[in-house]
Amino acid sequence: MKKASSYKCILRREFILTVGKGIAGVGVIASGIYPAQALQKADKEVVNYQDTPNGSLSCSGCRFFDGESGCAVVDGKVSADGWCVAFSAS
Ligand code: SF4
Repeated sequence: MKKASSYKCILRREFILTVGKGIAGVGVIASGIYPAQALQKADKEVVNYQDTPNGSLSCSGCRFFDGESGCAVVDGKVSADGWCVAFSAS
């Protein structure tokens, strides 16, 4: 049986790998090397997405938010008032 800290370590590794791929994908697309289909976005669970802000931080202030309900690195619809651990100030 794994300890809770082992699961946290695995989750952290999954997050880094998934978000890393997403962010790398954004860079690759921006460079024009590969088509947009190459981008794989992170699942909401992996980035601990929530529909509420984290203090003063929310999707509306994140560089990955498209201004409506989309995110460049997280799969599915997101809220302007949402937040996740991939937040990056715009
Ligand atoms: S905080 Fe940023 S990266 Fe996370 S879901 Fe919102 S727009 Fe996407």
